[in-house]
Amino acid sequence: MVDKHVSFSELAVPGVRGLEPYQPGKPESELRREYGLDDVIKLASNENPMGPGARALEAARDAMISVHRYPDGGGFELRQALAAHHGIPADCITLGNGSNDVLALVAAAFLGPDREAVFSAHAFAVYPIVTRAAGAAARVTPAISRNSAMPFGHDLEAMHAAIGPATRVVFVANPNNPTGTWLRGGELRAFIEAVPADVIVVVDEAYFEYADDADYPDASRWLAAHANLVVTRTFSKAHGLAGLRVGYGLSHPDIADLLNRVRQPFNVNTVAQAAAVASLRDTAYIRQSVDLNHEQRDWLRAELEALGLCVLPSAGNFLCFEVGRAVAEVNEGLLRDGVIVRPVANYQLPGFLRVTVGLPAENERFIGALSENLTRAA
Ligand SMILES: *Cc1c(COP(=O)(O)O)cnc(C)c1O
Repeated sequence: MVDKHVSFSELAVPGVRGLEPYQPGKPESELRREYGLDDVIKLASNENPMGPGARALEAARDAMISVHRYPDGGGFELRQALAAHHGIPADCITLGNGSNDVLALVAAAFLGPDREAVFSAHAFAVYPIVTRAAGAAARVTPAISRNSAMPFGHDLEAMHAAIGPATRVVFVANPNNPTGTWLRGGELRAFIEAVPADVIVVVDEAYFEYADDADYPDASRWLAAHANLVVTRTFSKAHGLAGLRVGYGLSHPDIADLLNRVRQPFNVNTVAQAAAVASLRDTAYIRQSVDLNHEQRDWLRAELEALGLCVLPSAGNFLCFEVGRAVAEVNEGLLRDGVIVRPVANYQLPGFLRVTVGLPAENERFIGALSENLTRAA
């Protein structure tokens, strides 16, 4: 039985055979188990360090009473709330089990064998996964050189040049994870205008709330002018609801209709829907979360630079910085000290680590541990 079964890998569809599983940040519980540590901090998955907002939490608790019922498969209340929030009709909205789910819906609806998706090197890891899982080919374009204002950022000219007759989808992360780099309104708008109308442009705005550059664009404003545009947002980052899994896509109603055809009927659960509605209204909590991030991101950047490290520009709630050859040793040392950050070698950034902006005490502890481990590795 063990050694004579068929090769299931050969049975799998070709796109799945070549896939590497997504590597999530190490859960705190795993580090506690593996290293026998009590006091662990996780700065590895760009979650809101303040936790969920009080209003979202209360709504989630209240919603628990009805979890014996299936969720509202159409997500009526949440879509109404989002429609009001964005000032667009509710039929432009597709709910997802996290915004990753929406990315997968786009792939399921528009990609497949003999089709291609274009995205940048160092872009979010879910783009290659959903592309290849759908049987489509990935055209990965080289990023902007590191000796530029936006090192390792998306090169929109290269992305445009990579669009061919088989291209159906272009994925743009703004800002991008793991680099933190972003695209300004003028350049992104010009790019979308230049993309053929029969190619879907997905602008992934998972970190929208955090982006504070005056030229950072809200791509959802361009939906009326560009029917081939899909903008994705999430409740996982600034809204502090990563564990509930809720995100959404904004698009032309015809695209939303197609995405909703491939969507699992109950992909967003009852508790997540209720918490998301409450969180959307809790603007004070989002403001507070964003303010804390800006203050602490500036502090972290200054501390990392004071350690002599190169830090990439970031419009998100994380910083990507270069450790160099000692990266594995330094990361291992941080883990032993109970600090979880994210190595990004799988993003073709082998000497880099990504750290999520945490609470002040967490950031101080991280900098202390990093400083010690850098000295030890030197
Ligand atoms: C975190 C992240 C997401 C959001 O994932 P969810 O499925 O909504 O939790 C999407 N895109 C990028 C670039 C991200 O970093």
